[in-house]
Amino acid sequence: MSDQKKSVCLDPGHDAGNLANKSPDGSYYEHEFTLDLARRMEGMLTARGVAVTMTRTGGEAVSLARRCEIANSIPGLNLFVSIHSNAAGGSGWSDAAGWSVYLYGPGGDRETAAQDLLEQVRAAGIALRPSPIVYDPELYVLKHTKAPAVLVENGFHTNREEAALLGQPAYRQKLAEAEVKGILQYLDIPWTDLAGETDYQREAAAAVAWMKENGIMRGNGEGDLMLDQPLTRRQFAVMEYRLAKLEGFV
Ligand SMILES: [Zn+2]
Repeated sequence: MSDQKKSVCLDPGHDAGNLANKSPDGSYYEHEFTLDLARRMEGMLTARGVAVTMTRTGGEAVSLARRCEIANSIPGLNLFVSIHSNAAGGSGWSDAAGWSVYLYGPGGDRETAAQDLLEQVRAAGIALRPSPIVYDPELYVLKHTKAPAVLVENGFHTNREEAALLGQPAYRQKLAEAEVKGILQYLDIPWTDLAGETDYQREAAAAVAWMKENGIMRGNGEGDLMLDQPLTRRQFAVMEYRLAKLEGFV
């Protein structure tokens, strides 16, 4: 057994400046969904020993070229997963529906990864497109990444029923878990129900990862986050202050 950690690059599509990719009623924004889903997946993968790199961790704009550069700078990267939701028709609601995964072309490791994702998503009972595997050599991040790469379209935000589902935390959790199971299957890492792991704990793991990445929680001098220690009012104030700075209020 190699002690080399398996690595995955998660690519939450778009950024907070993208207001065009939304449901027709404006209740759902793709950029918010993609980041939330990626954070949930990051928490679950990290808890199972996978090294995860995110191409964005906040609302900042990251070019497609930069996203590929980030992935291509990770030595021995096992898989690149771009996260999106789909759209069809003009500016109104449309009937197109279902989950699908895009890849550059047939065959190779990317096809195996796509099949593993599809298998787990199907097993979770998530509605699929009639042809859920789509080959597309034109998608930038699929074309310019060196590692096996897939782009997941998690249903259509232009479909009234799917837009409502995509907005629900429980549905997002279900998608995240199914896709993480697919990724682990591809990486030959067995899915384990972590002792006592609940939806709350998975969300907590994603939240802690985000607080750490964004410098809100820095821990003690040794980098220990002291997660089970009580919080003083002073520590609370410092974390709030860092968060306010991050969001541009200070
Ligand atoms: Zn998208």
